[in-house]
This record gives sequence, structure tokens and C-alpha cells, in this order.
Amino acid sequence: MLEVRNLTAAYGQHPALKDVSLTVGAGEIVVILGANGAGKSTLLRAISGICEGKVGGEVMLGGQLLSGHSSDEIVERGVALVPEGRGIFGDLTVKENLLLGAYPARARSDEAANLDRVLGLFPKLRERQGQVARTMSGGEQQMVAIGRAMMSAPDILMLDEPSLGLSPLLCKELFQNLAHVKDLGIGVLLVEQNAKQSLAIADRGYLLENTQIVHEDKADRLAKDPAVQKAYLGAT
Ligand code: ATP
Repeated sequence: MLEVRNLTAAYGQHPALKDVSLTVGAGEIVVILGANGAGKSTLLRAISGICEGKVGGEVMLGGQLLSGHSSDEIVERGVALVPEGRGIFGDLTVKENLLLGAYPARARSDEAANLDRVLGLFPKLRERQGQVARTMSGGEQQMVAIGRAMMSAPDILMLDEPSLGLSPLLCKELFQNLAHVKDLGIGVLLVEQNAKQSLAIADRGYLLENTQIVHEDKADRLAKDPAVQKAYLGAT
């Protein structure tokens, strides 16, 4: 289980996160909803050890402290991030991109089995293994990015706005894929603007407003909450 306790982050004098506490269990999908600039990306980056600002508080995984470790060590311990904008290598093939994700020692010995698991999750990638990544559609590139993170055999998979720029059909496919990741027993921490579809697959959610968690609940209850509907689901 991932446990974030009283996490703070600041860029110079500018606070970006204040006292954020949350948990993500094995096989649980947790969504973070928040407006632009609320601090969502900073939260994922702070957990991953790649936040450029000053970070305080504690991040634990399975009772062990992650805070203070390098970003590589955090991946090694089982937390993978799919960053906003995907960050895949366009000139490499799909398979080469996926194999790059298998760099942590925890994943190397099971590389072939992990690759098979990822290709099972994304059958489209199995068909397109030899294709140069930049020639894939946006949705397929997002699958490559998620697949690459999955190649590190994570216990927790974090995704920063994975549905950004995808067509409604590809969005639907993406969220179905994330539900399959959950079925593998992996905990998913998802930052999303697409509140409707993310709440539909999530177990729980947190509302992050202006650097702070202001509300937490089960996903089905959040979806029915009038304040959430007004702020995130387009209700008037
Ligand atoms: P969005 O949905 O627009 O991506 P967000 O909720 O992910 O927003 P963050 O990107 O975490 O928000 O940004 C939170 C605040 O921190 C913003 O005011 C932003 O300008 C600031 N910020 C983020 N990264 C940096 C940085 N590297 N240096 C300085 N300020 C930053």
C-alpha cells in the first residue's frame, strides 16, 4: 500500500502542496480531481522523487520510507509514473520503448513475462511491436507509455492526465485498460480532468483544491455529489 503523509511542496516561496495525505491500496484505483494549477502534477512528481520544488512530509510503500530516495530507487521499489505528455521515444519501435521500461533490477529477471503481460493488456501493441512509435496514433502512444511503465513491474502505477488529447473512443479504451491493470493487483493513482470516466472506474477519489485535499470519498458517491457535479462534471 502507498501511503502519503502530510506531503508539502513549494517552488521558492510559492506553496504547491499543503499537508496532503492519501492512500492507495493494492488493486485499488484512486483518482485525484482538481482544477488547473491545484497541484496534481506536483503531487505525482513529489511521490516519484522528481519534483523540482522543495518537498516535505513522508511517502511510504509497504511500510518502507520512499521519501529521500532517488527517482530510480523509487521505481526500483515499485512506484512507476506515466508523465503528462507520455515521454516516449518516437524514433524507437514500440517494443524497444517497452523494453526500456524494464531497466529496474526488480523487473529484469522477468522481462519476457512482463512483456507478455503488457502485450496481453494491450493487444494492439502486440500487433505493432515493430512500428516506430512516432507513427502511432495518440491513443496508441499512450498505451506505449503505460506499457513501458508496466514493464518496471510496479506495485503502484501513477498516471498524469492520460486521457488528454484522446478521442472519446480512445478515452473509453484507455479507461478499460486501466481497469485491467487494477485486476492485476496493481494500485493505480490517477490524475484526471475527465472526471466522469475516471470516477466510473475508480474505487475512491480525492479533491485537490488550491494545494490541499478538501474532500475524499468512494468514487460512486463523489460522482453523485452535487458540488463535484458542478465543479467537475459540467452540471449547472
Ligand atoms: P494542470 O492541471 O494545469 O497540469 P496541476 O494541478 O497539475 O495543474 P501543478 O502542475 O502541480 O498543477 O502546479 C501547481 C502550481 O505549482 C502551479 O501554480 C504551477 O505554476 C506551479 N509549478 C509547477 N511546477 C513548477 C516549477 N517547476 N517551478 C515553479 N512553479 C511550478
